[in-house]
Amino acid sequence: MSETPAPGKVICDACPVLCQISEGRTGACDRWGNFGGKLTRVDPVVLFRKVVGESGQVTEFLEQKDWDGTPISDAPVFVSGVGSGTTYPDYKPAPFIVGSRHEGVDMVTVVTEGIFSYCSFKIKIDTDRWLGPEQATVRCKGEAAGHVTTIEYGSQMLSLGGVHHLTGGSKREGRVTCDMMMDLGNKKPVEVEVEGGAHVVIQAGKAPIVNGVEEQRMRVGCGSATIGIFAKQWHGHVDEVVVVDDHITGILTEHQAGRFLAMPPSGIRIKGRKSTPGRYFQVANPGTGWGGTDITDPLTIVTGFEPKLARPGSRILMVSTTGEDSAYFILDDKLRMTPAEMPDAVRKVVERIGENCEPALCTVLFLAGAGGSLRAGVTENPVRLTRSIKDLLTKVTCGGAPVYVWPGGGITVMVDVTRMPDNSFGWVPTPAIVAPIEFTMRLSDYATLGGHMDRVRTVEDVLKSERVRVVGWDGLNPWPVGREA
Ligand code: SF4
Repeated sequence: MSETPAPGKVICDACPVLCQISEGRTGACDRWGNFGGKLTRVDPVVLFRKVVGESGQVTEFLEQKDWDGTPISDAPVFVSGVGSGTTYPDYKPAPFIVGSRHEGVDMVTVVTEGIFSYCSFKIKIDTDRWLGPEQATVRCKGEAAGHVTTIEYGSQMLSLGGVHHLTGGSKREGRVTCDMMMDLGNKKPVEVEVEGGAHVVIQAGKAPIVNGVEEQRMRVGCGSATIGIFAKQWHGHVDEVVVVDDHITGILTEHQAGRFLAMPPSGIRIKGRKSTPGRYFQVANPGTGWGGTDITDPLTIVTGFEPKLARPGSRILMVSTTGEDSAYFILDDKLRMTPAEMPDAVRKVVERIGENCEPALCTVLFLAGAGGSLRAGVTENPVRLTRSIKDLLTKVTCGGAPVYVWPGGGITVMVDVTRMPDNSFGWVPTPAIVAPIEFTMRLSDYATLGGHMDRVRTVEDVLKSERVRVVGWDGLNPWPVGREA
C-alpha cells in the first residue's frame, strides 16, 4: 500500500527512506525536492554530446537552449545516469530508457542512479612508504572504514567502504563510511589513518600525502630490478651499488647483472635474509625512510666486509628505489665506508633513477554489484540482463565511463572515478552510495531480454521534457554507443 503524504508534502519514493518533503525543501539526501508541489530531482540529468571535427577532435557541444527541436538522427548524444534519479522499488522501469539510432541500428540505453549497499573503493597509492600492516584497519574520523590489503608493485593498496562498514557497525560508522565513500567517488580529498601506521590523504588523480608529506615519485622498481636496469650505466664508475628496498634489496656485484658484467665481488655484507645472489629480504623494518624501510642512515644495514674479497679504495654507492636518497662512500684501509663526494658520472645515474620514476598518484576505483534488484528496472527477467552483459551484447558504463565487468556471477563492475563526470556520486541515509549506471544495447536485444519496451523514449523527448545539463565528453573514454565502444 502506498503511503499518503501529510498535507503540503510530497513523498519521495526514490529510496526506502520515503522522505516526506515540504514545499521548497529537499529530502534527507538533498537529491530530491518538493518544488511547486512536484517531486523533482534537484540536479538536472547529465547529457553528453560530441561533435567530431575533421581532425577527429570534439568541436562543440549541444546546449539545450540551442536545440531547435529538429530530430537528432544518428547524433552522438548520450544520456548518462548522473542526475537521472532512481526508481524504488526496482521493479519500476528505470527513470530514463532512451532510444537512439546509430549507423542505421536502433539502440537503447537504460539509465539510472543505482543505490548500492554492496560497493567499495579500491585505492592504489603509489608510494614505497609503509602505510601500515596488511589487514590493518583503516579509520576515517575515528571510525573503522576499510583495511590495508595486499601491496602491489610500487603501490600500497587499501580497500575502503563496503557493506560491512556501511551496515555492520554503529550508526556513526555507517554514516562516516558513506560520507568518505561519496567524497572518494567525487574526487575530493579524504584523510584516513591506518591503525599502527600512517596518516594518509587520498584524492583521486592526485599525489598521496603520507604523514603530511606529499609523495613525489613512484619507484622505478624493486632493489633487484633497479640493479638490473642501471647495472651497465654504473659499470666503470663504481665498484659496488646497494639499492635499499623494504622488500628486495639489491647488491650489484653479487647480482646476476653484476656478474654478467664480470664485476669482481666487493665483499660487502648486509643485514637481512639472502634470497638469491645479490637479492636480500628484510634488511630493515618497514617505514617511511629509504626505499620504504625505517632507515635514515644506510650504513645501519651494512654488517661489514669479507676481508678476502674487500679492496680498500672501492667506490660504493647506496641508493633508494626512487633515487630520492643516495650516499657515496670510499672503503678505507680498515674496511670502513667513508663518506665522499659523489662523482658526476654516478650522480647522473642516480638522477636517471628519479627520471624513470613516474609521478606518485592515488588511483580510486569504484567497485559495485549491480547484479541485484537494480536489474529489474531494466528488464522483467533480470538474469537475462546479466547474461546479455556476459555475452557482450550489452555495454555497461558508469556516467559514460567504461567499466570492467568481473567474470563470474552477477554484474560486478569496476570503474576509475577520474573518468566519470564530477560529482557523479550521491548517498541515501539507509546508508548507501548512489552512483550512475547505464546499460546500452540494440533495441532488438532489449526486447529479447524482456525490457520495458513501452517506456523507450527518444533523445528529443528527453530534451523537450527534462532539465538537462550538457557536459563535455571526455575524449579519453570510448563512446558508449556503437562499434568504437
Ligand atoms: S533520502 Fe533522498 S532518495 Fe531517499 S527518500 Fe529521501 S529524498 Fe528520496
